[in-house]
Amino acid sequence: MKTYLLPREGRFFKTNLHMHTTVSDGQMTPEETKRAYLAQGYSVVAFTDHEVIVPHPELTDERFLALTGFEIAVNLPHPSSRDFEFMTTCHMNFYAKRPDNVLCPAFREECIWTPHTRAYVTDAMRARSLPREYSAEGFCRLIAAANEAGFLVTLNHPVWSRQNYPHYAGIRGLWGVEVFNSLSMLDGYGETAQPLDDLLRLGQRPLPVAADDAHRPRDCFHGYVMLKAKTLGYGDIIRAMERGDMYASTGPAIEELYLEDGVVHIATSPAAEIVLSTERRFSVRADGNGALLQGARLDIGEYLRKSASGPDAGKGCYFRITVRDAAGRCAWSRAYFTDELF
Ligand SMILES: [Zn+2]
Ligand SMILES: [Zn+2]
Repeated sequence: MKTYLLPREGRFFKTNLHMHTTVSDGQMTPEETKRAYLAQGYSVVAFTDHEVIVPHPELTDERFLALTGFEIAVNLPHPSSRDFEFMTTCHMNFYAKRPDNVLCPAFREECIWTPHTRAYVTDAMRARSLPREYSAEGFCRLIAAANEAGFLVTLNHPVWSRQNYPHYAGIRGLWGVEVFNSLSMLDGYGETAQPLDDLLRLGQRPLPVAADDAHRPRDCFHGYVMLKAKTLGYGDIIRAMERGDMYASTGPAIEELYLEDGVVHIATSPAAEIVLSTERRFSVRADGNGALLQGARLDIGEYLRKSASGPDAGKGCYFRITVRDAAGRCAWSRAYFTDELF
């Protein structure tokens, strides 16, 4: 029997989940953003301006969906320097599950640092506002309250932020973690999947996110997620996000993904290698010995047997797949936990 890891039904919608516009410190207006992303084949952009939740229903039409969101920063000042370079910080994106929801308890008016952005604040945004504290407990409080209020939360660019394992290991309730961020890549931090694996090994189930975090035109069109949904409606796109019907990418496509009789079948755009990795020291790798692959069959029968009866039986066993093309660009599947498959 086939277990579909990406749903058979529906269409893929190319999505940038991290975008800054002239509402905060971005260079492009929301309208220019829509035009530019539509022209590159995108269907969805999450507008995640700094510190203010501004829905853009005027941009949504039959070809384009504007997701409502915003990004916050929780800073940990350096004990002896106020220099930005030395500051550790925690940035998170909040995505509203309903397009008109601006009641996020993570909103905090005094944290707005671009003066013109204050013009977008409404009384509704101020309705509930939790204090910010740089600690795992502080992040968990914000995330739990935001989840309760109808928001999905992503941990953004933790490596760029100078967050190390002790800073994020205690975070609970994340929907996603960025494994690629275009702005961070241009700053020298390309693929950063380690925090994702760390959280997965700790039993959390965040999804891998690749996103642009675009402030300038040159930041655009490097990292995205492909969401597989029934329609481009707001509800269907959010449902696909919540179900994890998606993969992240900087170039390669994952066209089909299913498990049958202990073998993962994957169909891809031309790839140099395809690697299935797990929570333990077990992986399966396929390469074309110099030729490009169009997919692979990855036998994980032994892994599944040990997951069912080995020393870690029932304890957070997962596999995830990374596809790398000849140019070094990647696609990342989400982690599939064995307890959700059988
Ligand atoms: Zn950020
Ligand atoms: Zn950002």
